[in-house]
Amino acid sequence: MNEQVKATTSSEETTASRDFIRDIIAEDVRLGKNGGRVITRFPPEPNGYLHIGHAKSICLNFGVAQEFNGVCHMRFDDTNPEKEDKEYVEAILEDVRWLGYDWGDKLFFASDYFDQLYGFAVELIRRGKAYVCHLSTEEIRQYRGTLTEPGRESPYRNRSIEENLRLFEDMRQGKFREGECVLRAKIDMASPNLNLRDPVLYRIKHVPHHRTGTKWCIYPMYDFAHALSDMIEGITHSLCTLEFEDHRPLYDWILDTLETPHHPQQIEFARLNLSYTVLSKRKLVELVEGGYVRGWDDPRLPTLAGMRRRGVPPEAIREFCRRIGVAKRDSVVDIALLEHCIREDLNRRAARFMGVLRPLKVVIENYPPDLVEEMEAINNPEDPSAGTRQVPFSRELWIEADDFRENPPKKFFRLAPGREVRLRYGYLITCRDVVRNRNGEVVELRCTYDPATRGGDTPDGRKVKATLHWVSVAHAIPAEVRLYDRLFTVENPTAEKEGVDYKSFLNPHSLEVVANAWMEPNLGRVKPGERFQLERLGYFCVDPDSEPMGKLVLNRTVTLKDTWARLEQRGLVD
Ligand code: ATP
Ligand code: MG
Repeated sequence: MNEQVKATTSSEETTASRDFIRDIIAEDVRLGKNGGRVITRFPPEPNGYLHIGHAKSICLNFGVAQEFNGVCHMRFDDTNPEKEDKEYVEAILEDVRWLGYDWGDKLFFASDYFDQLYGFAVELIRRGKAYVCHLSTEEIRQYRGTLTEPGRESPYRNRSIEENLRLFEDMRQGKFREGECVLRAKIDMASPNLNLRDPVLYRIKHVPHHRTGTKWCIYPMYDFAHALSDMIEGITHSLCTLEFEDHRPLYDWILDTLETPHHPQQIEFARLNLSYTVLSKRKLVELVEGGYVRGWDDPRLPTLAGMRRRGVPPEAIREFCRRIGVAKRDSVVDIALLEHCIREDLNRRAARFMGVLRPLKVVIENYPPDLVEEMEAINNPEDPSAGTRQVPFSRELWIEADDFRENPPKKFFRLAPGREVRLRYGYLITCRDVVRNRNGEVVELRCTYDPATRGGDTPDGRKVKATLHWVSVAHAIPAEVRLYDRLFTVENPTAEKEGVDYKSFLNPHSLEVVANAWMEPNLGRVKPGERFQLERLGYFCVDPDSEPMGKLVLNRTVTLKDTWARLEQRGLVD
């Protein structure tokens, strides 16, 4: 009785999905825009680990580049030294590589452009399009106005170009304290777009940078650095998430005003939101630093490092990204779809083993005490080329405590007193008696087996309704098994209830540790990171903790119950 639901087959990456971005790019290529070249970029800020939302952006940027014979640049948007760190740079590179993408020699850092960016800022001043402003952050906010009211001009707005050049140079040389002044673009304080009301381009931070050290004490703002980094690298299509739609006029203003030789096109798409989790770096940092999870690679997190540790194959993430597609409208994707993609992939590729999480001992009274039979087991019914393996069978076995009921309810077809079941790849056994401890709890089952049913065959054609997994007591390897549930108890923790912190919806049962599980001996050969199925229990992988703990430690990636496939069968999803 394998509870596994067969997932519908898919055609991973055989067909590149069409979407509005690919349509735009295809048309640009057809018209010979940018000489027919396509250059995209993935521009993370190294202030946290990547999550599945970033995977959507990675698959899009690198995927588009591949499909149009272009290249995708890996660029760190490292313009805010306070929150950034080398650790994040390394982790991000590892994650992108793990997802299956290669940037070749196109690894860039916005900080490598600091000299050029400074030069562009000076050029804006020369063109009368930027000025040094001494208003405080709070005053700038007050002067900015609102959506319904125009802003007011800063009293420093009409300084001479010479004065601005001198003051900006003084900023660079560290002659001002943090917050004393900023460089602002001179655009339009009455613009209906708040981003055009003289936005800040540079601010002072007396903070060393993880790459440029103490060379700079002024750092460019995101919009300024991003547009110009794209331009410097010759990016043709700058794909970003929807919240930057209102920034596009500023992106264009910077490049137009500087009359740069190249002008990338910014195109926005909807960011990925996923149910039962959070995908904001700020919140993920909070969960990690606040000790709510065990680290950035905690298998419960939607980070790529966490998912990798949990056993999620990169192919499943790519397939998930392909299936959600790219659109212009924000939505929340059901996490069941991600789990479905994981099962679909692992079902095809993962070797099967047997293991028992909550052991109950079975003693087969009529089985010879010193006999051990090697039973032949199929490694992967989905893949005949995976072959078979030998699993030792003996008189004393562990079965799952759940698979026995002394007083079975209706529809419980597994083991019960007097009832016969099949042991997978073993024999048919019948429960004759139970042994209890002093508290009256059943601690052992006394059974008999039918020697004519080796391998689980029933020569007389008699039917048994259940097939149980098992391991031989004398041969079993002990394991700690970590079972994961969703990180949050509600679909949308950040918007569940107004004024209630998302952390109050953390699922207290998101991690369950089974300390004393037993695995078939073949699992001793499996290495950290390898993924496999434990029959009837789900897909698992070996956790890197195994080595320091000197014990097999397993993570359950997903159970076998595929709620998405059921919805699909009932025609309730696409
Ligand atoms: P935060 O979560 O703090 O807003 P961020 O998501 O903007 O940070 P970045 O490092 O700036 O983090 O993101 C790198 C790229 O990944 C950006 O182009 C961004 O648009 C994209 N990205 C980030 N989150 C998502 C998401 N949930 N879905 C799709 N793309 C995303
Ligand atoms: Mg960002």
